[in-house]
Amino acid sequence: MDTTEFRTAAKAAIDEIADYHDKVSSRRVVSDVQPGYLRPLLPPSAPLDPEPFEAIRADIQDKIMPGITHWSSPGFMAFFPASSSYPAAIAEMYSNAFSGAHFNWICSPAVTELETIVLDWLAQALGLPECFTSAGSTRGGGVLHGSASEAILTVMVAARDKYIAARTAHLGDGEEREEETWRLRSKLVAVGSAGAHSSTKKAAQVLGVRFATVPIREEDGLAMTGDALARTLDELAARGLEPFYLTTTMGTTDVCAVDDFPGIADVLGARAAAGSAELFVHVDAAYAGSALLLPENQHMAAAWSRFHSFNFNPHKWMLTTFDCSATFVRSRADLVAALSINPPYLRNQFSDSALVTDYRDWQIPLGRRFRSLKLWFVLRSYGIRGLQAHIRNGVAMGEKLEGRLASRKDLFVLFTRARFGLLSLRVAGRDEDEVNARTETVYEAVNAAGKFYLTSTVVGGKFAIRVCLGVPSVREEHVQGVFEALVTQAERV
Ligand code: PLP
Repeated sequence: MDTTEFRTAAKAAIDEIADYHDKVSSRRVVSDVQPGYLRPLLPPSAPLDPEPFEAIRADIQDKIMPGITHWSSPGFMAFFPASSSYPAAIAEMYSNAFSGAHFNWICSPAVTELETIVLDWLAQALGLPECFTSAGSTRGGGVLHGSASEAILTVMVAARDKYIAARTAHLGDGEEREEETWRLRSKLVAVGSAGAHSSTKKAAQVLGVRFATVPIREEDGLAMTGDALARTLDELAARGLEPFYLTTTMGTTDVCAVDDFPGIADVLGARAAAGSAELFVHVDAAYAGSALLLPENQHMAAAWSRFHSFNFNPHKWMLTTFDCSATFVRSRADLVAALSINPPYLRNQFSDSALVTDYRDWQIPLGRRFRSLKLWFVLRSYGIRGLQAHIRNGVAMGEKLEGRLASRKDLFVLFTRARFGLLSLRVAGRDEDEVNARTETVYEAVNAAGKFYLTSTVVGGKFAIRVCLGVPSVREEHVQGVFEALVTQAERV
């Protein structure tokens, strides 16, 4: 494809993409193809000779589209959204044009410098404590990863090395320290609440450390409390184990519960004052973190000045095309100490001068995408006020659905109230078994109809339907639509 052909093909593709967005709400939301649908539609091997671009593009409609689940449809109320926007899409085109691996500052100085600036803007807009900004008193700052799972794994590596360094510092640098390091490694435990996302357990699995959960209760809104954490830490210590890392959550995946950050910070502060080794505390706000753009939510971040890292995904609820996960640390030295490698082929005068940030030391892969460009385009195209309006829409839609469900107490029980545009519900019944069975039947019937896509969860043996209204195009008519679909199916069971 030469430049002239690129101009024609790319313009046609953009028209097709714009049409797709305009009409996405008329499509069935979740794909209904059967497993293996694509293989018979494609040749058994790649073409030996070039094919015209028109033929390739035609296959998007005929062969790919049937296997697409439409995450940008207003009927997509499953999982959490993966919202996109035109400014982010255009930024991705530039980012692709400047294709590169961008691991060191000199690989493209603008890539590094824009990332630092945009993450400082974001920290300010979210009301994060100053320790998470690049000019903050603790020399912290932000970095863009591809996913919250990657962020959690990355900070857990830093937490492990920080913990072991602190616990063995008194032993000098000899064999004794080496032995103690390996003994401690076999005792390490990463901790998260029973409501924490599975990525914490997975990170522990990758690192080869134990994982323990803090129990949560319905009467605490399924949030982790300081008392429950203290009990778990005591139990672990009694078994001779070494809790070194904790995931706290703002907006759990099931029900958007928010852990008791001040209570947790107090418990950990008291334990540290009594001589316990310091835990590294991460805040996972993968979805709900975007809600910190609203001043009324920013009080939640106050206690985080006593924690070590925070992460949220602008690619979930902040109109920034997947992938874009923003991680903030209070001390960049924790990451660099654990992740820096300096083979001769990566060295250069700028890195050696220590005057620049090399983001390769803040992440697990070496190469990295120019992700900050889309965040910059989004922040400038919408402005903080535009983004606030988008978040408020999701919050309001959740409240509207809650109001409608509350008007049919004969049919529905709210399992958890609307929070950050997410609620969970169950279908009324005479006992737990009947409620579970009816809820599952209604859930499957609504999804099978294809107009809405919902997901479910099971908490303490209770099956609940989750409805998340964070997709930007969701309006009152879609809330009414999903309510009617739920009523129709609930009346049927
Ligand atoms: N943390 C929470 C609270 C989540 O809800 C999710 C995914 O929905 C994740 C982490 C993992 O996100 P990612 O897909 O970016 O790894």
